[in-house]
Amino acid sequence: MIAARLGAVRQWPRLQRPRPLSRQASSAPTRLDFQRIDAKWQKRWADADAASRAANPNPVEIDPTLPKRFILPMFPYPSGSLHLGHLRVYAIADVLARYARLQGYQVIHPMAWDAFGLPAENAAIEHGVDPAEWTRENIDKMRKQLKLMGGSWDWSREFMTCDSSFYRHTQNIFSALFRAGLAYQGTAVVNFDPVDNTVLANEQVDAEGRSWRSGAVVEKRRLKQWFLKITHDQESLLQGLGQLAKNGRWPERVTSMQRNWLGKSKGHEITFQIVSSIRHGHLQESRSTVQVFTTRLDTLFAAQFLALSLKHPLVQNLAKANVELRSFINDNSHSPPESTAGFCLPGVWAEAPLKDMDATKTDPSVRNAIPVYAAPYVLSDYAEGAVMGVPAHNSRDYAFWRRHMGEGAPVLNTIAPTLEAAASAPVYYRCDQTTPFLFKGYLTGAVPRRFRGLQSDKAAEEICHALSKSDYPAKPKDQFRLRDWLISRQRYWGTPIPIIHCNSCGPVLVPSDQLPVKLPELKPDQLREKKGNPLGEISDWVNVPCPQCHNPAKRETDTMDTFMCSSWYMFRFADPHNTLEPVSPDRADSTMPVDVYIGGVEHAILHLLYARFISRFMATSNIWPAGRDIKPVGEPFVKLISQGMVHGRTFSDPSTGRFFRPDEVDLTDPNNPRIKSTGETPNVSFEKMSKSKYNGVDPTKCIEKYGADATRAHILFQAPVTEILEWDEGRIVGMHRWFGKVWKIVDNARNSMWNDELEPAPEQVLDIEHSISKYEVDGFTDAEADLWLSAQSTIKAVTDALENTYSLNTLVSDLIKLTNAISAAKISSLSPGKTRDALGEKAVRTHIYFASTTILLRLMGPTVPALAEECWEYLFLPKPTGNPQQSQPVFSVSRTRNLDDPMPRTTGIFSLPTSRIKPSFPREDERVISKLSSRTHICAVQQNGKLRFVARIPFPPSHLNQNESTVDLIQWATQQIMETDEAKEYFGPKGLQKFGLVKKVVVAKGGKTVNFVTAKPTVR
Ligand SMILES: [Zn+2]
Repeated sequence: MIAARLGAVRQWPRLQRPRPLSRQASSAPTRLDFQRIDAKWQKRWADADAASRAANPNPVEIDPTLPKRFILPMFPYPSGSLHLGHLRVYAIADVLARYARLQGYQVIHPMAWDAFGLPAENAAIEHGVDPAEWTRENIDKMRKQLKLMGGSWDWSREFMTCDSSFYRHTQNIFSALFRAGLAYQGTAVVNFDPVDNTVLANEQVDAEGRSWRSGAVVEKRRLKQWFLKITHDQESLLQGLGQLAKNGRWPERVTSMQRNWLGKSKGHEITFQIVSSIRHGHLQESRSTVQVFTTRLDTLFAAQFLALSLKHPLVQNLAKANVELRSFINDNSHSPPESTAGFCLPGVWAEAPLKDMDATKTDPSVRNAIPVYAAPYVLSDYAEGAVMGVPAHNSRDYAFWRRHMGEGAPVLNTIAPTLEAAASAPVYYRCDQTTPFLFKGYLTGAVPRRFRGLQSDKAAEEICHALSKSDYPAKPKDQFRLRDWLISRQRYWGTPIPIIHCNSCGPVLVPSDQLPVKLPELKPDQLREKKGNPLGEISDWVNVPCPQCHNPAKRETDTMDTFMCSSWYMFRFADPHNTLEPVSPDRADSTMPVDVYIGGVEHAILHLLYARFISRFMATSNIWPAGRDIKPVGEPFVKLISQGMVHGRTFSDPSTGRFFRPDEVDLTDPNNPRIKSTGETPNVSFEKMSKSKYNGVDPTKCIEKYGADATRAHILFQAPVTEILEWDEGRIVGMHRWFGKVWKIVDNARNSMWNDELEPAPEQVLDIEHSISKYEVDGFTDAEADLWLSAQSTIKAVTDALENTYSLNTLVSDLIKLTNAISAAKISSLSPGKTRDALGEKAVRTHIYFASTTILLRLMGPTVPALAEECWEYLFLPKPTGNPQQSQPVFSVSRTRNLDDPMPRTTGIFSLPTSRIKPSFPREDERVISKLSSRTHICAVQQNGKLRFVARIPFPPSHLNQNESTVDLIQWATQQIMETDEAKEYFGPKGLQKFGLVKKVVVAKGGKTVNFVTAKPTVR
């Protein structure tokens, strides 16, 4: 057996050029120069990238027959500086992209710029800069910063949304939506600054409702705006969420936020009859009906008024002859939704359904004929623009009723929380004696007899049934809260809406061969101190002939919401240079959908919903034909990771709460900060990074100080990706300690290989692993079995984290554990003829140590790529022949060698040949894991230190294998012993009681000795 094992190693086919043993092998340097490692590898990757681009005429082409993975972090707004939140999302994405590459996928991992938007326009207004130039400069700055973090982006797909080569296609998509009837012009209430004469975005209105610039009180104005009809797809968008929520594809939190936003409520449409008696010299009664939507049919009998939107046909009709109503409508058309304003329609009454069933004759004047109001709080686009007012069970209706009817007004109470309360509840309260009861409950005595005492749901059912026998049955109806998507912005710095307004033809699309409608270039200072949208003033841009009738017409001056750019940008990566179409159907099919999408939870609703809507449109309109066949149809993002925010360490004055600047705090001892002026201890908390709290961190500085790898690893290690990350720079040294340990392992492995005259090539590591797992496991020493099991289990855990759970913090801790396991192993050189006995069970032979190290380095590759590559190269550098200086690592601080010296190159981790069939990322061998975890060893069972018998028990599982006898380990070991035949034979039917009272159990030597300390040794 042993001979066979030794033979296997001797015949190791990967042995190369045995060299004479050298005693001059270098020792590991103690400090690594991380900045130089970063610089060296970032340059190597960039060179390799450039070379492969030069060799490949079409680098963005994906082979549709081979598996691909599209890893996309949400693209950044080019604000000009990268923050830690960016670093976090791009680190996550880069780890996943690098992993996928090592797994043999064709990887799409691109970067682009969400480059339209307000900050550029504001900079232009305030400082007179050209928004295009401002944006380009910021992009250049951020691209440099991004490159510093060691990411593996595919720059050949880069684009910016403010470039006409991109936004011509945003216009194309708008045109397609317009032709499909999904883009239309309507009116909407907007924030209007009456001083600057401009429309404001919500974020430009402060908490007091004033404009951020002029300070004027912002008015709500109704203006003509462009909308996309997202409500057309509301049901499909909702249905899709069900499938996205399955198997953790999307975080539950995001799907439920979207579900709430869509706001589907199941309810009923019911009919109220309207009686109008209008005097035209004589009384004339006319009847009509109004449809009302309610989700609470059980409260029908508590309806005390009807409220109609100001645009309701009945209201509009009455307004023709009623001056007061007309002026009420004019005065209130901009009222906020919480307004309690109302206008009681004279001579108009509503009759409640089922009024005839009321046998109690409570008060016919209230019950049977109820007043009808025109009220701005009723939205014209919600349901039929009519609601039934239920003061007793709806807060808004209650506030309205109280204002219009007074404090003493009767409130008809039809629902009580319990059956008992329902039985004794009075029919009416006074307004000032009650607050609305909003929940479901039991119907009171104020309703017709047959419904009394029924639970709300049951009552709703019965009422629906009763209505079905009346002249006006209730119709079950679903109502959505979702509104159409308003895309108009009265701004310069956005995608022009490709529409020309003609007096005779109406809004006409700009013909596609005339796209793009380019933003006119501004003269210097043209935006400076400008109010409103300058597009309207550029007459040679605005005034154009109508494409249909050729009469003079005007361009639309609104530009599109930037959400429009980000709703389809992921498609553009598939075909970034296509001038004719947004994306060719072939390219869309081979690249979409995005396999993993990563971004902040602040985009959980709008961006993701808009992107789903547009992507569905792309799939159903043949731009993305394969999108129709996926489930849910046209869904753009297979998996979604919502990363948490980054909070910064914040210091404040314990007495005043004032925030301290960093220079006001003495951080000589990071664990014991002091206020410089007083010597006292400040309050320390972690809060959202902001300028006012002086707790922001510049990620570039951090990278400069600690290196990209340590910063990446730290950011991933400190918190699960979905949770808030409390940024504590002081802990990065922990990563450096880890790196130092890895480096030492690599140095050990290399020197031992040389001593054993082994020199495999990087391309052979897969075969080496395979050969060890296949032929050598049975001959392992205990220590080798432990180490190999540890390596194989770590492959499994790391793969699971990168493939399924995205638990990247435990991934880092698993890598550190494997590092510790390798580092604890004692390498034993295996000279031919050395026997297993001479080795001992604690020995780990060189090639097992070496193979475990190559596994560790490849597992580390995605997370700390530069360090892993450097270690890898060092591990495989050919043995020096003469000058020992040649083998010195080039990046050690203590060495003087020039980094740019030509080095013998080996195949790097990220340049190993890789495919889905034979990936260069390690794959665990399940058979080996189960074999190694079920292996047994001899256990000496003692009583008070005296050997009683020996039994074969399994090795303790790694989580129990501590140096001390933990309760869990004792329980585990005792159970394992008692299940053996040897124990059954020794103890007989008495079991452990044969030992008498066991006071203590000591498990030693990893379970090889178990000593039962008992009260009194039994005499045998
Ligand atoms: Zn025309």
